[in-house]
Amino acid sequence: KPTKDRQRLPVVPQGIEREDFLAALAELQGQIGDENVEINDKPLKDGWYMEHPNTHDMMTILDDEELVASAVVYPSSTEEVQGIVQWANKHHVPIFPISMGRNLGYGGAAPRVRGSVTVDLGKRMNKILDINPEDYTCLLEPGVSFYALYDAIQAKGYDHLWIDTPDLGGGSVLGNTIDRGVGYTPYGDHWACHSGLEVVLPTGEVIRTGMGALPGNNTWQSFPYGFGPYSDGIFSQSNYGIVTKMGMTLMPNPGGYESFMYTFPNEEDLAPLMEIIRPLRISMILENVAQLRHVTQSVAARGLPRSHFFSGTGPIPNDIIHAAAGEAPVGDHTWAYYGMAYGPPHIRAHKLAIVDAEFRKIAGASKVDPAGLPADEYYFSRDRVAAGVPDIHELRWVNWAPNGAHIAFSPVSPIRGTDATKLFALGKRLHDRYGIDFFPAFCVGLREMHLIVEIVFDRDDPERKQAALDCLRDMIDEAAEMGYGEYRTHLVLMDQVAGTYSWNDNALMKFNEKLKDALDPNGILAPGRCGIWPKRYRGRGWEM
Ligand code: FAD
Repeated sequence: KPTKDRQRLPVVPQGIEREDFLAALAELQGQIGDENVEINDKPLKDGWYMEHPNTHDMMTILDDEELVASAVVYPSSTEEVQGIVQWANKHHVPIFPISMGRNLGYGGAAPRVRGSVTVDLGKRMNKILDINPEDYTCLLEPGVSFYALYDAIQAKGYDHLWIDTPDLGGGSVLGNTIDRGVGYTPYGDHWACHSGLEVVLPTGEVIRTGMGALPGNNTWQSFPYGFGPYSDGIFSQSNYGIVTKMGMTLMPNPGGYESFMYTFPNEEDLAPLMEIIRPLRISMILENVAQLRHVTQSVAARGLPRSHFFSGTGPIPNDIIHAAAGEAPVGDHTWAYYGMAYGPPHIRAHKLAIVDAEFRKIAGASKVDPAGLPADEYYFSRDRVAAGVPDIHELRWVNWAPNGAHIAFSPVSPIRGTDATKLFALGKRLHDRYGIDFFPAFCVGLREMHLIVEIVFDRDDPERKQAALDCLRDMIDEAAEMGYGEYRTHLVLMDQVAGTYSWNDNALMKFNEKLKDALDPNGILAPGRCGIWPKRYRGRGWEM
């Protein structure tokens, strides 16, 4: 069995002879250059967030070799992407596009089908094609990270333009957006904020969506819809095309901003707090996608391993977590709300006064004074992120376990006390069953919230990996029985999550499959992504 230390034999896509595959790769080298086709025969190295591998999931929940690429190719243009797609159709090779491959918690850079050829778009297609300071828009290739976009805007001196960034800034703006990722300014719903795609279809044709279909238009990044059916949706969380360009809207500098953090003492504060948050959020008094975090994750965000606080097995006891929280500058609490008010001081003051009066209706609510916090306190990371400044502080809680890796359970619900309580109780009960520390954070969108539960595990401990996977599978099934579904999931869980969206005898999946078969008759593009299998794979044992 190959290990990380031994030389590995290259994986070959199933159904293709090794010699045929190597000959096909040589043909591709002729098309895009020897140096742009790399066979994956070296030891699998996990690296770290900023130097992550593009061959596999560096935080894998399965064996390393399960979801691994046979080769990685690096196109430099839309035309080369078209050439790769045509090559894949000719040889019936599954290909899997990534923008930057930092989709950690959801599969990293790994393909869903073992032995796929990964199309790493980010390495050479990394240009910012346009930043428009009048329209507050930009046009990006897949390899532009949140850091790169931020830096480019600063370098041009465009002080009036802001970006929105997720917790970690190293990901691709395009990759994150088409996976419907989230950030934390008022522009946090990235998909809602994009405008216009250029897409290479699985048969090699290229299309531009929205106004991009009108030659000579100047509205591609300003009006997302164009004319006729709005096709962008089918290119997000799917396997219907390779996105080679994306338009994104930029936020106007609001003319000032101010972070705030409130803490609440008890677990039972969750329900009344949600009832307070909902009307404030919908009416935009609470303006950004804020996080309501549980204390266990806040303690972990200090970056110390769990063993620093507790050497036993099973979930870390409550009294130890609260003692640890009590030692830190923010002080003991159960929930922490991190928010931001935007605008000049008098506008902020108006909104902050309403928020303060409402939050203080919870007995024991406390507003944290940032003046008393050390510079490396997590509060300041949230402050940067909510102001659109890319950061990587968030990685610290991954140190909670040795060889720290994580995988997410991310159900959505309305912003209601009853929903929050049910989901919290479900997660807690199942984490206790599997002896896992519970890290719930509610990310409050405009009319819904994503509960993001991160399970941190030791990637070198098969028993803890299995416990994490079993816990996730139970949470997904039990949440679905209660009417809750995930907004996004890890590659390994995509079949299961897609299966929960089963209304009317799986009518939606049947529709997705019809689209897949029409657009990708040879089934070469990212088979199985988001649970959508092309005809030649369907029902043949690939689902898991
Ligand atoms: P990629 O990995 O390049 O793309 C994601 C997926 O989309 C790919 O696997 C692929 O299937 C598909 N894809 C990518 N590009 C294309 C293309 N051009 N055409 C067709 N399909 C494509 N995520 C959030 O959204 N918000 C957060 O706040 C957040 N916090 C995180 C915190 C931590 C500590 C960690 C480790 C992760 C967090 N993540 C978060 C998850 C993840 O890191 C980000 O979503 C990241 O931006 C995704 O990686 P990427 O941008 O490199 O996308």
